[in-house]
Amino acid sequence: AEELLLQSEKLSVAGQLAAGIAHEIRNPLTAIKGFMQLMQSGHDERKQFYDIVFSELNRIELILSELLMLAKPQENVYKQVDIKNLLHDVSALLETQANLNNIWIRQEYEDCKLLLQCDQNQIKQVFINLLKNAIDAMPAGGNVYLSCKKADGKILVEVKDEGEGIPEELLIKISEPFFTTKEKGTGLGLMITYKIIENHSGSVSVQSKVNEGTIFTVSFPAADGP
Ligand code: ADP
Repeated sequence: AEELLLQSEKLSVAGQLAAGIAHEIRNPLTAIKGFMQLMQSGHDERKQFYDIVFSELNRIELILSELLMLAKPQENVYKQVDIKNLLHDVSALLETQANLNNIWIRQEYEDCKLLLQCDQNQIKQVFINLLKNAIDAMPAGGNVYLSCKKADGKILVEVKDEGEGIPEELLIKISEPFFTTKEKGTGLGLMITYKIIENHSGSVSVQSKVNEGTIFTVSFPAADGP
């Protein structure tokens, strides 16, 4: 198993730049979409071309929205929460979709307070991204183990899948903006994930073995100390 500590300093610069560009592109895009919709209303043989253009525009819009999340003026709402509740909510959110794909989310939380000082929405986003990736990695189904414990003043959350794994040479790339191996991926999820974790003074490590699975371990300082 390979372990790699991932730094995200580079990402913040890339992220800010990208977000600035995203903002500039989104306005003309909205106008184009509006006119596309008007043109689409007649029905002739060109309809299929309009449909393709429209779905590609939607894709660009999705990418831009993800980028803009980085740029959001950081009106962070920091609150002290027990991360068990948050993880439980995120898991419930994705469970139905997971089960439809024959995937089962197994939760295991240490029976003590797991307090985190955090922006809840952002931390939810982190675990939504990690769980979605875990689900995507198991096209044939399997288990995702979501666990959390406290050790040495740190809250450790583990997202472990039984999926396709990540080849060693790609581990360094997965957090780069736009790196994706998925047909419909944006390659922005992990970049955003790492950025949020960094903003919470946390860190991430990844262990992976091809055809066996991947473990993302996220560590945060516990709000109530050791
Ligand atoms: P996206 O999901 O849009 O591709 P991400 O930044 O979330 O963007 O992920 C980048 C890439 O990292 C994925 O395309 C995939 O190749 C790899 N990856 C991330 N998580 C996992 C995982 N749990 N198992 C296997 N590969 C993963």
